[in-house]
Amino acid sequence: MGQQGLPGEPPQDPGTPPGGQQDTAAAHGGFRRRGFLVGMGATGASGFLGGTAAADAPHGKGALRPERFHGTRQLLVPEVLLLPEGPVRGRAVLVDGGRFRAVGPARQLLAQHRDLQPVRLDGHLLMPGFVDAHHHLTQSFGKAQSFGQPSEIFKTIWEPLEHALDEESAYVSAKLAALEALRGGFTTVADAGTRAPVDVRAVARGTEEAGIRCVLSKIVSKGTGGPAHLARWDGHPLIHPSLAIAVPEDAPGKVIKRTADLCAEAGAVLQVHVNEHLASVERSLKSVGRRPLEHLHHLGALGPHTLGAHATLLTPAEMRLLAGSGAAISYNPVASAWKGNGVAHATMLAAMGVRFGMGTDGTRADGFRLLDAGETAQRLAYGMAAGDSVCGAGRLWLEHATARSADALGLGRVTGEIAVGKAADYLVVDLNVPELTPSYDLEWELVRLAGRDQITAVVVNGKLRLWQGWPPDWDGPALVARAARLGPEVVRRAGLQRVEPAQNP
Ligand SMILES: [Zn+2]
Repeated sequence: MGQQGLPGEPPQDPGTPPGGQQDTAAAHGGFRRRGFLVGMGATGASGFLGGTAAADAPHGKGALRPERFHGTRQLLVPEVLLLPEGPVRGRAVLVDGGRFRAVGPARQLLAQHRDLQPVRLDGHLLMPGFVDAHHHLTQSFGKAQSFGQPSEIFKTIWEPLEHALDEESAYVSAKLAALEALRGGFTTVADAGTRAPVDVRAVARGTEEAGIRCVLSKIVSKGTGGPAHLARWDGHPLIHPSLAIAVPEDAPGKVIKRTADLCAEAGAVLQVHVNEHLASVERSLKSVGRRPLEHLHHLGALGPHTLGAHATLLTPAEMRLLAGSGAAISYNPVASAWKGNGVAHATMLAAMGVRFGMGTDGTRADGFRLLDAGETAQRLAYGMAAGDSVCGAGRLWLEHATARSADALGLGRVTGEIAVGKAADYLVVDLNVPELTPSYDLEWELVRLAGRDQITAVVVNGKLRLWQGWPPDWDGPALVARAARLGPEVVRRAGLQRVEPAQNP
């Protein structure tokens, strides 16, 4: 500890070369002064040259204790704070009652709150938790069953798998998915609606017990149950109700329109998979004469409360429909890599002002790997062809996996950034690792170099939910053991129709 001098004193200017005594602060301060620090990184990013905090606690985590996050009020003083405008130093954050109550200069907040013992997060980044805009929490027992399968695996894998769930296994599946999401740095997940023949209460119980924020959907393709579901979770601190039509072809046009209106009225999102697979686009053309997204627009169901999943196969005209209607989509790059027919043109959508978040689609719940996949998929699918070597840099992907994902879920006022009034949904990330050393552009480094092993703490609504990857207040390994017993039973019952890929053709 003690990189900073007096309590409340901002850390030394990271750009000032103190006669070769560059410390960890300097090593990680380069993002503000990229040009200046180029070539200085070799002066000891590990910090030992300056006899700094890193020398006392080489892995950065040693000085921190989970107990420091207990209680309803905390004054957090991170080494770096990721604000909407970018990473900054010398700031502090006051958390009270599960929300960020003040964000400002550390010196000022320390002086104003002398009653609080500050929680110093030397060598750490405080950043918003990731927001998964598209998940299927009751598919977690089958995630490794989807490899090597042709598109539209919902018909061969997901539907049979979810139909084989009962109350207990649906609950365990959801809780397992929630734990995995927290470990990957997600503080919010949007469940797109389960097909399991159980009350969604089983899913809610799993996410509540794990402590993750959840946009909980109910599939209402038959046109019933929507209002009751929206009212049931009204006012819940961590569960935000939503309605779903799995794919437009599942429901009559008037049901889709009525559901969209219900969502608009309630301030909830309508989740619907759109334009994901070529087969479904072509079925839609044959049955209603329009592509799925055009069909939603034609029905009057495309608006700011619509969240379309995937949207990988969009015509330019459909992109304009999205931009004009204010509807959002989830960009799910890992789903494209594993079983898609295309990659959503996210950089184009960003340039056109289309709202979008980023989703895992239940593939793997690792926020940093999702960022990496998001950037990589754009570069390979579109950037190379256009000579775009930047493809959004780091900022675009960080924003779309946090604040803009929250916005896509209708939670823009609730979570997704470190700002006064927002829920205290945040991560404490270790910066003193070789992967981020030396550091010149922290945002891009988080996209390309960071990993979930760096996440020291995950906090949701002001409550510590994970410490170094595991829950501090419930038995995570016991849940994993239970899922390891139960999952294969469900898979066996489901009778999945996998296409077994030839190993040695
Ligand atoms: Zn999906």
